[in-house]
Amino acid sequence: MTETLGAKRFLTGRWLLPMNGDPIAGGAIEIEGQRIKRVLNKEEFAQVADKLGPDHVQDYGEAVIMPGLINLHTHIEYSSLHLLDTNAALFDWIPLLMRHVKTWQPEKFVESATHGALQMARAGTTCILDSSYDGTAAAGAARVGLRAVIALELFGVVENDTETFWQGWLDRKEKLVQRFELGQQPGFTQAAEAISKGSIRLSVAPHAPYTVGPSLTRRAMEWADKAGIVWTMHVAESPEEHRWIASTSPRLDQFLQGVHTLPDGRVENIHWRDCGKSPVQHLADNDLLQSSLVAAHVVQVNESDIQELASRKVTVAHCPRSNSRLRCGMAPIGNMLTAGVSVGFGTDSAASTDDLDVLAEARCAWHLQRAVNPDFRFDSYDAIYRLTAGAAKAIGLSSDIGTLEPGKFADVAIFNISSASEVARERPYDLLLYGNVPLSDLWVAGEQVLKNALY
Ligand SMILES: [Zn+2]
Repeated sequence: MTETLGAKRFLTGRWLLPMNGDPIAGGAIEIEGQRIKRVLNKEEFAQVADKLGPDHVQDYGEAVIMPGLINLHTHIEYSSLHLLDTNAALFDWIPLLMRHVKTWQPEKFVESATHGALQMARAGTTCILDSSYDGTAAAGAARVGLRAVIALELFGVVENDTETFWQGWLDRKEKLVQRFELGQQPGFTQAAEAISKGSIRLSVAPHAPYTVGPSLTRRAMEWADKAGIVWTMHVAESPEEHRWIASTSPRLDQFLQGVHTLPDGRVENIHWRDCGKSPVQHLADNDLLQSSLVAAHVVQVNESDIQELASRKVTVAHCPRSNSRLRCGMAPIGNMLTAGVSVGFGTDSAASTDDLDVLAEARCAWHLQRAVNPDFRFDSYDAIYRLTAGAAKAIGLSSDIGTLEPGKFADVAIFNISSASEVARERPYDLLLYGNVPLSDLWVAGEQVLKNALY
C-alpha cells in the first residue's frame, strides 16, 4: 500500500509547520531514506531548487505540510462497528459491542482494523496509541503503513489471581507475536516486520480501574517501565466508575457480574470498591500514576485529581465526542490545561464516535471549552501542538516524531488549502483546526502512505 519516495526528495508548499518553531512560508523539507535531512526556508530552498530538476521536488502548491497527527486513544479493531448504537450509555454499549466482537473470526478483526487504520491515515494521522482487544490492530496499522503503539488489553479484577492474570497476558502477547511471524492472516507478516523494525511497538493496556485490580495494574506498569514504553488505561471515564469506587453503583456491579469472574462471585470482595475515593485518587494512592501512563477519557475528576495528574505528569487522552455519545460527561479540560496537565486527543473507536478524525476531535474539544468558559485561552496553535509535538512527547517518541526537523522520521501530513479563503490561508493553525481542510498526501518514515487522498 506504500510507495517509495523515488527521486522526489523535497516536499514544499505554501506553509511548512515544523511545530518546533514558527510557520515557514514557502519552506521545504528534504527527505533522505526514512528521515528528514534538512528543513529549508524559502530562500534556502530557492537556492537548492535552482540546481534541481522538477523530478526531485514535490510542490504541493496551496498546502500545509506538517508533522503527521498522533491519535492517543483508538481501538481500530472496532471500526466496522461504526454507529453501533448512537443512544446507548457506556454500560449498555460495552455488552452490545462484546456481543458482536465475540462472534468474529480472526479475519474479521484484521479487516476491521485495516479499515480503521485507513480512516486514520485519511485524517492525516501517522501514529496511533491503540488499546487492542486481541492485538490484530497491529496488522491493520502495518497494512496501511502507520506507526503505532499497540497496547494489548489486560483484565483481572480478582487480586488473589494477579499472577494468573498476568501470566495469561504474557502468554497472549507471545502467541500474538508468533501468529504474526507465521503470517497466516493478511497483514500478519507486515506486522511482524514492523515490530522487528520498531515502527510498531507492543505495550499493555490495563482496561480500567473497575476491571483491573491495583496489583495487576502494577505488574503492567512495571513491565512497561522495563520495556521503556508508554502504557494506557481508561480512567475516570463514567459517573458509574466514579460512584462504584467512591461508594456504590448497582449498574456497574451488575455489569461486572455479567462479564467478569468475581471473588467468590461477590463484588463486595473487591477491596477498592466503595473506598471513598475518586478513580484518580485510587490510582494515585496505589502509586499507579506516572509520566509513561496515557489515561484515556479522564472525565470524572475534581480539582485535587487534576493536581495529582499534573504533578505526576500523566497524559490525558481527551475524547470529547465519545464521552458525549456514551453519556459520560465533559472532561474539565480547561482546568487541566491551566493546571499544566499534559493533554492530547483521542477519537476512541468508530463504534462510539462520528469518525476517526483526530483534528475533528480537537475542534470539538475547543468548541465545548469555549462554550462553557468564555475565558478559555488556548488557541489553535495549542491544539495542533498537542496533536503533534506534545503527543509525541507523551508517548516517549519525541526524539523520532512530532516535529519536522533534521534527524526525525519523515512522518508528514499534507493538507490541501486551495479551497480556503485568502484570509484563512494566512492562518494555517486556524485553518487546520477549524477549516475542515482535506488531506492530500501522507508520508510515514519516508514512504508515501496516501496520495491524493482528497475526500
Ligand atoms: Zn477506549
